[in-house]
Amino acid sequence: GFKMGIVGLPNVGKSTLFNALTKTAAAQAANFPFCTIEPNVGDVGVPDARLDKLAAIAGSKQIIPTRMTFVDIAGLVKGASKGEGLGNQFLANIRECDAIAHVLRCFEDDDITHVEGRVDPVEDAQVIETELMLSDLESIEKRLQNLVRKVKGGDKDALQQVRLLEAARAVLEDGKPARAVAVDAEDAKAWKMLQLLTTKPVLYVCNVEEDSAGSGNSQSARVAEMAAAEGNSHVVISARIEEEISQLDAEEAEMFLGEMGLEEAGLDRLIRAGYELLHLQTYFTVGPKEARAWTIKAGTSAPQAAGVIHGDFERGFIRAETIGYNDFVTLGGEQAAKEAGKMKAEGKAYIVKDGDIMHFLFNT
Ligand code: GDP
Repeated sequence: GFKMGIVGLPNVGKSTLFNALTKTAAAQAANFPFCTIEPNVGDVGVPDARLDKLAAIAGSKQIIPTRMTFVDIAGLVKGASKGEGLGNQFLANIRECDAIAHVLRCFEDDDITHVEGRVDPVEDAQVIETELMLSDLESIEKRLQNLVRKVKGGDKDALQQVRLLEAARAVLEDGKPARAVAVDAEDAKAWKMLQLLTTKPVLYVCNVEEDSAGSGNSQSARVAEMAAAEGNSHVVISARIEEEISQLDAEEAEMFLGEMGLEEAGLDRLIRAGYELLHLQTYFTVGPKEARAWTIKAGTSAPQAAGVIHGDFERGFIRAETIGYNDFVTLGGEQAAKEAGKMKAEGKAYIVKDGDIMHFLFNT
């Protein structure tokens, strides 16, 4: 599955947000009781209204959302790359994540200490990014040293790695994150394997006070500007509101949101933003027993998509029967779509589209 690491300075609202995320009804969907793998790791259902619609049409007994993993990574402070706070252990946690949700304090509250003694989310973002850049530089130096012998032996992969590491080092020494390196298509895989922290996509989470949850405030506006300039994304959320909502059932939550003048829970927006940031898509399997959502990267072929369900589906893939989401819904289900000629047989080269309803045929 895909993993988002929640980072940020102390006292910005990370734990509040993480607890809300993992306590909501969606996170605790009956079929996948929320299980704590470690105290700071939570598996969350990805909210998707399309899934409910499909289940209603097909009369599915169970609805199973697709999942996304969140990891609450505490302990990042100025100096973490030098081993302060939880230091290196913390940085290793980030390395394993596909993306970073960076929580920024955009709320004023004299009762809650700010580690830097002022509220400035743009400056805070830089404090964290600096630590990540320093950590990348350090790991690059180590790796370059380890590669010396292999390079002398003429190892092609080692030569490629050295070239990429040196490109990253040049950018980092210039004070920029490694994502600023322009990487060719043929280097893309090796580049990703380097797992540099500052190449991970960032979703800035602006934690604002309750009454700014809808529109944001002047601080979150600054973050929005910064995110746009970096090619990252941002969401505005009130962790306190999300915490309250997480303790309500679906109906109460809807009423509460209405009273606050909000259209949907911030967590839903956050999960979806993470999904978009990672270029993820959803396809569905729909039947009388269950309607289920599955996560794939955009551009995934039909056999690879089948492999998300089970490796055997990919290995023995024969073909897929697909119905587009809109066809399924407007025509009113599989049978009707089939009769209208909207069910297509697709081979190995088919690139799955977001929202496709898929049925796989395979050899065992
Ligand atoms: P962490 O250290 O980043 O995990 O921060 P916590 O989630 O533990 O939050 C630190 C403190 O800030 C707690 O007392 C929270 O209740 C409080 N807090 C979190 N979000 C908000 C907010 O939006 N407004 C206010 N006033 N306080 C908040």
